[in-house]
Amino acid sequence: MGRSRIFRLNLSHLTLALTAFTLLAVLGNSFYATYRVQRELLIASTLESNRAYAAKLAESVGLMLDSAQRQLAFSAETLGQRAVEQETASSEVARLFRQTPMFNTVSVVSRDARIRALYPDKAHRMGSRATSRGAHQILAAREPIITDPFITTTGRYIISVTSPIFSTTRDYLGFISGNIYLESNNILSQLLSHHYYKDGTYIYVVDRSKTVIYHREAEQVGRLIKGNSAVDAVVQGKSGAVSQVNSYGIEMLTGYAAVENSHWGIIVQRPKAETLTNLNEQIKEILLASVPVNLLIIAGAWLASLFIARPLWQLACNTANMSNRDAQLRIAKVRAWYYEAAQLKQAILHSIGHINTRFDELHAETRSDPLTGLLNKRGIQLLLQCYEEEKIPFSVLALDVDHFKLINDTHGHDVGDRVLVALAALMQQKARKDDEVCRSGGEEFLIFLPHTPKAIAGEIAERLRRLVAEAPMEGVGAITLSIGVSEWHTGLPYHPSHAIKRADRALYCAKAAGRNRTELDLEG
Ligand code: GH3
Ligand code: MG
Ligand code: MG
Repeated sequence: MGRSRIFRLNLSHLTLALTAFTLLAVLGNSFYATYRVQRELLIASTLESNRAYAAKLAESVGLMLDSAQRQLAFSAETLGQRAVEQETASSEVARLFRQTPMFNTVSVVSRDARIRALYPDKAHRMGSRATSRGAHQILAAREPIITDPFITTTGRYIISVTSPIFSTTRDYLGFISGNIYLESNNILSQLLSHHYYKDGTYIYVVDRSKTVIYHREAEQVGRLIKGNSAVDAVVQGKSGAVSQVNSYGIEMLTGYAAVENSHWGIIVQRPKAETLTNLNEQIKEILLASVPVNLLIIAGAWLASLFIARPLWQLACNTANMSNRDAQLRIAKVRAWYYEAAQLKQAILHSIGHINTRFDELHAETRSDPLTGLLNKRGIQLLLQCYEEEKIPFSVLALDVDHFKLINDTHGHDVGDRVLVALAALMQQKARKDDEVCRSGGEEFLIFLPHTPKAIAGEIAERLRRLVAEAPMEGVGAITLSIGVSEWHTGLPYHPSHAIKRADRALYCAKAAGRNRTELDLEG
C-alpha cells in the first residue's frame, strides 16, 4: 500500500517550526533590547552635546559682550574728558564702530536725550531727541547696561549695550551705546548662523524677559516664549538639558545655557524624531544584514531536524505493515542513533518477532492440508485470530473449481487430485509474500491478502482467474474458477470470520451468474 500523499505534520516539520520560532523570538527580543538601549544612549548623548554646545555659545557671547562693554567704557571715558565735544564724539563713534564688529550702529546721546553722534553717519538725525523706552531706561540707569529689546523712534527693533559718560568732575553727561538691530544681520546672527542646521538642530536666544532676540527664522524675533521649561530655567541663570514638547507640539531634545552678563539664554535643540531617524535606519540595516545568516541557520536547523526525525520516520513507515517480513529487515536496518529511537526500534522488533512466531506456528503440519501443503481449516482459524488480534486488515478470495465433479468423473479421482495439487502450486507461485493461500475443503480454496483493499483484491482475483483459464492442466485441459471477494478491517462491524461467509456468498453469485467469473461482496 502506498504512503499517503496528503500533507501530514510530522516530527521534522514540528522541530523546524520550533527552531524557526525560537530563532525569530530570540532575534526579535535582542533587536528590541538593542534598539531600546541605543535609543536611550542616543537621546542622552544628544541632550549632552546640545547642553555643551549651548554652554560654549553662551560663553562666547558673554565674552564678546564683555569685551564690547569694556570698549564702550573706554570710549565713554575719552568722551568724558572732552566734555562730549561734537568732533570727538563723531570720531569716537566711527572709531568704535570700526574697531568692534559687534554693533550695527554706535551712538552718543547727551543727558537731555539729544543724539550727539551716530555712526554710520545719519546726518538728519543729529540733534534729534531719543524718546524711546530704551533711551529712557539707559538715561535712568546712569550705569553700564544691556537694555531689553525696544523699538526706536525710527521704528527699529534693537538692543543697546551702553556705558554712561561722566565728566572729570563726575557730572553725568549722557551715554555711548552700541546698538544691535535684532531684525537685521547682526553680531548674533553672524556668530550663531555659522552653525550647521542639516541635522535639524537649531539655536535661538532669548533675553531675560523670555523674548526671542535671535532666531534663524526672522519672524520669530520678538516672540514671547511661554510654557517652555528650558526657557524658564535659562532666564533664572541655569544651564542644563531637557527632553520636552515645544510650543508647536514637537518633541525636542533641548540644551540651554545662560549668558551671565546679559542674562540672555542660549537654546540649542534638535527634534527627537530626527535624532532617532538614523537609529531606525541602522536597525533596519542590521536586520537586513542578518537575513542571509539567519536563513543559513534555519536551513541548518531543517537539516538537523530531518536527521533527528529520520529514524522515527523510518520506524513509523514500516510499522504500518509489520506482518510483512521485509518490514522486519528494514526496521532492523534503521540507524536509531539516540535513546528514544533505539528503545522504539527494539520494542517494534520485539513485537514483529512475536507476530512472525505466530505466523510460523500456523504452518506447522497439523495446520496444513496433506495433499496440497496449504493451510487447512484449523490453520485458517488461527490465521483469522492472528489478523484480528494484530488488527491487520485483509481481503479474502473464495475460489471454487467449476464442474470439478465432471473432471473426477471423466478422468478419475487421482487425476482430479493432481489437478488440485497443480492449481494449489500455481496459486502459491502467484501469491505475494504475505498472502496466505489455504484449502478450505474439496476443490475450494481461500486466499488472504493482508493490507489489500477489496477493489485491488478484485483485480488480483480477476488476474488469477484469467491465468488459470488460459493455462491447460496436464491431461484435463483448461479448468475455470469462480471467485468471490470480500474484506475485513477494524472499521467494519463484523468479525473477520464473517468476511469468509461474505466471500462465499459472492462466490455463490459468481456460480449463479454462469461461473468462470469474479464477484465482489457488495453488502454493507
Ligand atoms: P460447481 O462447483 O461448478 O457447481 O460444480 P462441481 O462439480 O465442482 O460441484 P460439487 O461441489 O458438486 O462437486 C465437488 C466435487 O469435488 C465433489 C467431489 O467428488 C470432488 N472432490 C472433493 N474433494 C476431492 C478430493 O480431495 N479429490 C478429488 N479428486 N475430488 C474431490
Ligand atoms: Mg466446484
Ligand atoms: Mg465445491
